[in-house]
Amino acid sequence: GVVVGRRVRSRRKWKRVVGVLKELEEACETPVGRLRQVVDAMAVEMHAGLASEGGSKLKMLLTFVDHLPTGSEIGTYYALDFGGTNFRVLRVQLGGRRSSILSQDVEQRPIPQHLMTSTSEDLFDFIASTLKQFVEKEENGSEPSSVRARELGLTFSFPVRQLSIHSGILIKWTKGFAIEDMVGKEVVGLLEAALVRSGLDMRAAVLVNDAVGTLALGHYDDADTVAAVIIGTGTNACYLERADAIIKCQGHLITSGCMAVNMEWGNFWSSHLPRTSYDIDLDLESPNPNDQGFEKMISGIYLGDIVRRVILRMSQESDIFGPVSSRLSIPFILQAPLLAAMHEDDSPELKEVDKILKETLEISEVSLKVRKLVVRICDVVTRRAARLAAAGIGGILKKIGRDGSGGGVAGGRSRSDPEMRRTVVAIEGGLYTSYMMFREYLHEALNEILGEDVAQHVILKVTEDGSGIGGALLAAANSSSSVDNVG
Ligand code: BGC
Ligand code: MG
Repeated sequence: GVVVGRRVRSRRKWKRVVGVLKELEEACETPVGRLRQVVDAMAVEMHAGLASEGGSKLKMLLTFVDHLPTGSEIGTYYALDFGGTNFRVLRVQLGGRRSSILSQDVEQRPIPQHLMTSTSEDLFDFIASTLKQFVEKEENGSEPSSVRARELGLTFSFPVRQLSIHSGILIKWTKGFAIEDMVGKEVVGLLEAALVRSGLDMRAAVLVNDAVGTLALGHYDDADTVAAVIIGTGTNACYLERADAIIKCQGHLITSGCMAVNMEWGNFWSSHLPRTSYDIDLDLESPNPNDQGFEKMISGIYLGDIVRRVILRMSQESDIFGPVSSRLSIPFILQAPLLAAMHEDDSPELKEVDKILKETLEISEVSLKVRKLVVRICDVVTRRAARLAAAGIGGILKKIGRDGSGGGVAGGRSRSDPEMRRTVVAIEGGLYTSYMMFREYLHEALNEILGEDVAQHVILKVTEDGSGIGGALLAAANSSSSVDNVG
């Protein structure tokens, strides 16, 4: 009768949803064989990007950082960290020994939304005035540093074509920023003009990417650090490369024999990446279509949006969520912390999932079965992201001969060789540090890729604020006073 009919209909509706889920799961599959193909593709693209300008979607940008902080850095330095969700100002006192940061003061401000699409002048006036207030507060009452001008490290976490260690041109925006007049401009010049306008006497000793700052702090804390990875709002990696392997660098003088290379791996692309229709739509509707393909599958601002798209599609194809909520059509409404909270909800009733689905997404039907389905979607999307990030790390290790295959020159060893060198990768970013499921999936995949014997020599080490403190360390290592002192 009526009841049976309704049951059949609702079963059919679940069938549709299960079909959509299955399709998603298959499209997101990352068996280790496929991850190895991504590892190989990453290493190949690294070679291509180093060979010539524009040789690969991987830009492999020169940083002019050819020596990392050693621990002998001493003095007080400022740093600006710009490029994630928050903007930060720091003052760091260095003690002249490895890992001796005597004090650090930090002030953090969310970047006002309107500034993300405003003008470069507005943006840098905001940065300069925040810095000025901070400096005045910090130096209140103390002797003005008359001996030397204040120096700062500017960490600017976007693709920059460096002209020197303290200047560079913005290539393009990522992560939702779009200040059009700034593309193609020299970044430090814009900052220093704003400092002059605000009447603050300070110069930028270095301009660095957050991945480079993280490598610097990682190396300061642990000399076995060879690479750094950021998995936060955006994603990127950098590593130490031998000067003679940077073919496109010929003509530049690299005195120490190596240089940190900013890979800009967010823009990596390979046909081996498991791409879904949701990724394609997300890319098309983004302000930077065809750009940052790897980043759009991995980093914090995008993951929640992939999940939102899957739920929207399911909601359109079936009524298990009730009427389609208009909230499901709002881009980026589901931020990474919400995604993590749902994924890691271990209450038997999935209370957190219930709350987020009702309050953030305004979904009316949230039976336990529906909540479990949503957790499953989060799991599929996050697991793929973490495993791809692991493959990226595998690619770097392969390129520098630390993957146990004995391929590279820099200390490569065969798989059976117990002497394989301890290899540390510094890592930062909220997705890795605050989302345990993501972190576990990444570790699991890296172990699968490298095998236990090799993986035990590879250490992923969280640095505390490399993008801020690392900038100050590099400012110290490259300050005009330290250069003077050498002579
Ligand atoms: C930027 C990189 C940055 C990364 C992490 C990406 O969107 O292109 O320069 O390092 O985000 O902040
Ligand atoms: Mg950061």
